[in-house]
Amino acid sequence: MMKNISSLSILNLKNTMNIKANNPALKSWIEVAENSDFPIQNLPFGIFSLGEETARVGVAIGTKIVDLKALFELGYLNDLSFELADFDAAVLNPMLLQGKEAMRDLRNRISDLLNVENQELQGNSDAIESVLIDAENADMHLPVYIGDYTDFYSSEQHAYNVGCLFRDPDNALMPNWKHIPVGYHGRSSSIIVSGEPIHRPKGQKKPNPEEPPVFGQSNLLDFELEMGFVTFQGKPLGDTISTEEADDFIFGMCLFNDWSARDIQGWEYVPLGPFLGKNFASHMGAWIVTLDALEPFRVAGPVQNPKVLPYLEYKGDKHVAINLEVAIQPENTEETVVANSNYKYMYWNMNQQLAHHTINGCNINCGDLMASGTISGPKEGQFGSMLEISWKGSKSVAMKDGTERKFINDHDTVIMRGYAQNDKTRIGFGEVTAKILPVK
Ligand code: CA
Repeated sequence: MMKNISSLSILNLKNTMNIKANNPALKSWIEVAENSDFPIQNLPFGIFSLGEETARVGVAIGTKIVDLKALFELGYLNDLSFELADFDAAVLNPMLLQGKEAMRDLRNRISDLLNVENQELQGNSDAIESVLIDAENADMHLPVYIGDYTDFYSSEQHAYNVGCLFRDPDNALMPNWKHIPVGYHGRSSSIIVSGEPIHRPKGQKKPNPEEPPVFGQSNLLDFELEMGFVTFQGKPLGDTISTEEADDFIFGMCLFNDWSARDIQGWEYVPLGPFLGKNFASHMGAWIVTLDALEPFRVAGPVQNPKVLPYLEYKGDKHVAINLEVAIQPENTEETVVANSNYKYMYWNMNQQLAHHTINGCNINCGDLMASGTISGPKEGQFGSMLEISWKGSKSVAMKDGTERKFINDHDTVIMRGYAQNDKTRIGFGEVTAKILPVK
């Protein structure tokens, strides 16, 4: 059953300073390495399976996964609003239907159970045996049933770079760009989980402007460094989510590689925008880090000039500082980092994106995925796509194995990593990796 968000609970939700599970002083009885992405302050959610067993909900800590189905069956989650079916599920959606407040209670409860000062689970070795799984033995699955996928275009540097490459540096941004968080509806069926290899796409392209189009494999295959956010159930069709309310409808964030076949894209995109150059695959990270866990890493966004319309105005720090990295690993050799960016470089934040998305009455469902758009920082070395890194193929990037790249080769693995860090805590996302196989 879905909970109604009462005005009282909205008040509770706003009080993000006191989220118990975020306390940097907490220590777990489970050993967690200092540089781990998954300390007790993180507790991201994902879907895992072990051998032939059915997939179910898990929480990452250190190198372990906490099996929430087993935890529930042993009675450790009794005082919450969840049922067994919420955790004995191959996607997070049933659990997420309980809403933000219930998910905050759940994360706080798991944090308590893993706290070194709490003996409830720590003191029960039989229970630990059935609840704690070595992550290296588990298979990770697409964490969410994604009904709808929306891709924004919200990094100013990326939009500027693309504008310079395809138009003119003096008019790089389209006239609407600083007034609207530009986006489009993508395809959810081809969003897959980190680790699943994909084949190089093929399609129609027009490599020579003087000659007719041709059919063949994409030769300009590119990654897009993005972050995604996953929503709770929104409001009915016709209603709007304000920037003020948006946090209550955002469950968490994940790494996202929004692949692009630049040659297919370049020929097909006029006048309706992205299609087959985009929808052959996107990879999402297996772990969704809750927005709650990211609250300590909020930062101010850029001053937005020209002033945005009132429905896009927001209060407080709504951007999030997340260090991002992209590496290319040619087959059988070491990787080369080709980009270091940060989610804080976004022009438009998630609250503005969600407010804009729903301002016309468009409804948001539990498990929708919204991607940021390619995240490029202001300097060279911070660009989030090979299109920008190679400046449309005009320069090469040296790999550590002596080869060069302008775009992505067959048998390359692209690896994205992300983490937020302050002087007390490091909250990571793990990796999103994908290997490119030759065209089918
Ligand atoms: Ca994209």
